[in-house]
This record gives sequence, structure tokens and C-alpha cells, in this order.
Amino acid sequence: MKKCPKCGRVVDDEMVICPFCAELLYDPKTQTKTEFVNIHLVRWLLLLSLVIPLVGFIMAVSLKKKYPLISKIIVKFATFGIAILGMLFILGIICYIALTLSGVTFL
Ligand SMILES: [Zn+2]
Repeated sequence: MKKCPKCGRVVDDEMVICPFCAELLYDPKTQTKTEFVNIHLVRWLLLLSLVIPLVGFIMAVSLKKKYPLISKIIVKFATFGIAILGMLFILGIICYIALTLSGVTFL
């Protein structure tokens, strides 16, 4: 059991919001850990969704003269990758906004 810092009433450990005064019950130990994981996951998703198709296109352009067929295949995969990673990117932005709104500060 823990005490609500605002109204001082005893609430369950599992409670995220105080049922009496709606105060956000912040637990620094557990919260920081999960948010840390979330931030890094979001960052990697954002990074991957930008880097992978870019690398694909750079590869395709650099191989175009020597291997036009391979270049074509890579472009196809890169385009497919952009479609999927674009969705991940949007998901990442949504997570980013949600985390920012929930009071997490990004360094
Ligand atoms: Zn309270």
C-alpha cells in the first residue's frame, strides 16, 4: 500500500491514479524503467523507418549502372519497406506524442 501525496489517503500499490482525488500517482522506480524502454523503442522505430528505405534507395542508385535488375528488385523492396516503415513511423510519432503528453521529457 502507498499513500497519495495529494490527499494523503491510502491507496493500492497498483493504482496509477488516486481514486479519491484523481492525482497521478507517480512511482519513480517502476515508471522510469518502463518509460526508458518505451523511449528507446520509439526512437529505434523512428530511426529504422527513416534509415532502412534510405539505404535501400542509395544501394539501388549505386547499383543501377552495373546491375539494373538487382537495382530494380531493391527499389521494389525499398518501396515495400517504405509502406510498412511509414506505418511504423506514424506509430512512432503517435507514441512520441502520447509519451510527451504523459509528461515524459525527451533528451
Ligand atoms: Zn488522492
